[in-house]
Amino acid sequence: MAKDESAQRMEKIVSLCKRRGFIFQSSEIYGGINGFWDYGPLGVELKRNLKDFWWKRNVRERDDMVGMDGAIIMNRAVWKASGHEETFSDPMSDCRVCNTRHRADQLPERDGKPYCPHCGAANMTEPRAFNLMLKSYAGPVENDDNLVYLRPETAQAMFVQFRNILDTSRQKLPFGIAQIGKAFRNEINPRNYIFRSREFEQMEIEYFCRPEDGLKLTDYWLEERLRFYEDIGIPRSKIRINDIPDGDRAFYSKKTYDLEYEFPFGVSELEGVAYRTDYDLSKHIEHSGKPLDYYDEVTKERFVPHVVEPSAGADRTALALLCEAFDEETVTDDKGKSEIRTVMRFHPRMAPIKCGVFPLLKNKPALVEAARSIIASLRADMNVFYDESGAIGRRYRRQDEAGTPFCVTVDFDTVGENGPEKAGTVTLRHRDSMLQERVAITDLKALLLEKIR
Ligand code: ATP
Repeated sequence: MAKDESAQRMEKIVSLCKRRGFIFQSSEIYGGINGFWDYGPLGVELKRNLKDFWWKRNVRERDDMVGMDGAIIMNRAVWKASGHEETFSDPMSDCRVCNTRHRADQLPERDGKPYCPHCGAANMTEPRAFNLMLKSYAGPVENDDNLVYLRPETAQAMFVQFRNILDTSRQKLPFGIAQIGKAFRNEINPRNYIFRSREFEQMEIEYFCRPEDGLKLTDYWLEERLRFYEDIGIPRSKIRINDIPDGDRAFYSKKTYDLEYEFPFGVSELEGVAYRTDYDLSKHIEHSGKPLDYYDEVTKERFVPHVVEPSAGADRTALALLCEAFDEETVTDDKGKSEIRTVMRFHPRMAPIKCGVFPLLKNKPALVEAARSIIASLRADMNVFYDESGAIGRRYRRQDEAGTPFCVTVDFDTVGENGPEKAGTVTLRHRDSMLQERVAITDLKALLLEKIR
């Protein structure tokens, strides 16, 4: 896609997200705040579907995984031990002309020299390390003793609770701990919409294993994760696997794959699958003096488990879902009039609303009553939406923009006004093909559930 076309596509996605209530700027009425976003009624459903499916796939459906939900604020000693306090930084460079600050490794270059993306001057300071952890104070006194960090990743809670979880869950190696939660990074330049923000959500797994299994389990998790993306509607062909070469990986990692998605603004990281060896547990053993090792009852060995970490961003995946779903097509009506149809082609599993239900006319109590009763019968199993205003075509278009895969229209046939043959049936309209079929109300729930699970 040409650069202009990609930028235009991104603009259209951002504008649809605001117009339809997927995503808003945080604190918008006060001018917003850079790097923070709010999810609106449709966005929160999309993100919840994503997190719920991740949890179902990675925790509920497996015997070898357990979940946890750690606190955002942890003892500062955790971040000293993990190395974050010392080294969790990005290189920062200031423009000496306009005084703006930038990520030094993302500066554009002219004649081999970096220049300021804000004013264009090639007069930048030497890069220096900028720690990305957001600080606060726990307790009434703002001093160094009370300094705390908002976690920059969820992972550390799973390492420091390793012993408790091992003892209480009675898992045997290999097994994993999974967690979904907020993380915070004081990014120097938040950008690309929700792709790089200062507050975001991660979906992380720490999969503990014997040292000799680490490499093959890294490949196993790469495959698992690709299958997951496929199952939420992001095909493998859209994901680039970046096998990070020696020298570019963290020093303790023996293998790292970055999974990158073709966003309109460029191919960028969705998730990292990293074999982190025994680095994290060993560091916490060293700093806490606590026994975070493992005793293998069969081989009678005691050792520090190795770990494979698939670490995904919920917001980046939600953005990938939005980008993948967005489509515009020209449609022509019965009278030969053409128009652009904007449609979000979410996988039914991810779609914020699963089914729209419409009475053909709002001033016919029998139709309204039948539509309301369908809504009531579906509500416990899926998110449904009742709409009685405007022409049916317009109601379909509104649901196309929301990405609703199915719409049901209740008409005079449904309520038996045109004879008994079609009584108890409705029109089921499919978002992608726009095809309509007649189905019995009694079959509706099973039919929809089959598609959305
Ligand atoms: P990047 O290189 O893009 O800054 P990273 O390699 O530092 O990312 P990790 O530390 O591996 O990211 O974090 C795991 C995942 O968390 C990332 O793959 C991404 O999906 C998500 N993530 C990290 N930073 C952010 C952010 N600032 N905004 C949104 N999601 C993020």
